[in-house]
Amino acid sequence: MTHCALCKGRERDIIQTQSLALLNREQPCEIHFSVCRTCGHLQQWPQVSPKLMAHHYQTFATYELFGDPARLRQAAPSRHARRFLSLVSDIGLVPGRVYEVGCASGEMLNQFRKQGWSVAGCDPSPSAIGQAKTIFGIDADLGGEESAIVRQENLDLILICHVLEHLHDPPAALARFHAALAPHGHLLLEVPCATAPDSLPPGWFTFEHLHYYQPAVLERLLRDAGLEVVETRIDLTAEHYPVIAIAARKTPHLTRAVAGFEPSAGALLAQCYAARDKALWTATARRMARIREPVFLYGAGIHTAQLLDHTHLAPHVIAIADRDPKKWGQTQAGKTVISPAELFADPQQAPVIVSSYVSEKQIVDALLAGGVAPSRIVALYSEAPGKTGTIRASAG
Ligand SMILES: [Zn+2]
Repeated sequence: MTHCALCKGRERDIIQTQSLALLNREQPCEIHFSVCRTCGHLQQWPQVSPKLMAHHYQTFATYELFGDPARLRQAAPSRHARRFLSLVSDIGLVPGRVYEVGCASGEMLNQFRKQGWSVAGCDPSPSAIGQAKTIFGIDADLGGEESAIVRQENLDLILICHVLEHLHDPPAALARFHAALAPHGHLLLEVPCATAPDSLPPGWFTFEHLHYYQPAVLERLLRDAGLEVVETRIDLTAEHYPVIAIAARKTPHLTRAVAGFEPSAGALLAQCYAARDKALWTATARRMARIREPVFLYGAGIHTAQLLDHTHLAPHVIAIADRDPKKWGQTQAGKTVISPAELFADPQQAPVIVSSYVSEKQIVDALLAGGVAPSRIVALYSEAPGKTGTIRASAG
């Protein structure tokens, strides 16, 4: 694609380039993050192809629920669901027909159903659709929004939670959502928020996220799609990075938004995000430069692709362990993905670098539970039991 995904402008400034080793790929995949000179939107440009992205979702990205079904059904709402439920309640919506695009295993829909909503949804992952049925008894459509939402009409509410940043053509998707809503139907969305560069975690610019929405850009996008913004909430303390949640209402006619956002402001912020990201990875690379011995990585995924891109660790890596059996025996950056059990059994007792930001604590706990000595564990972002585990990125 040679134009901005939002405004179709053709002028851009590249602010970061990554070279990522994906599962079972000989050559790394190079991606650019750019800011549009016309509208100021920060995005992958050019975008990773839909075909490669589909390959990635099938091999790398796993969004499955783990745990006892009865406990999952009775679980309290997740933070995402809590934010959506309180938005719905605060703007005074009464239960009706709700459809979630990208419903994964149906956890959010389960919470809406408890509040009296009639629920349905879609997801491109067959295993997620299967879990929605077996765990929650929810019949969800298999497929992405482009195939599923077009079969819907007169919906009272559409939920899109951490989906819009993954879509190749957001304006086209929003037009489909608009068409599927009842007159005065509502749309609730949440995406990572491009604000407050100091609060961004390492790896914020990532393969799966095609878009990095700044609040003003997102509101303009909705207005241009015939959706009137009712309420905007930015949560700077959300789990791993700031998020923005918006409730919008369908309006009968499209009103082209007047300019309300300076593209240069977007460019300036984008430079701050890139500088922040570079500083975080530089700090990690400096610490990893001390490593001269053979090591394991734990976590086959985008974080590992980024870690290998930003450091000189690759020649020292023996193998990459991962808990997902689907990945065992595959390769990333020429290294074999192994099971945790193989790692636990390593006679050399080589150090294990925990290659994850969001799951670091769970992985450290799993390693300790598997009998890995604390001194072998290298955690990048938090205090950990190992001798080099006091490594701490400024992200905390
Ligand atoms: Zn643009």
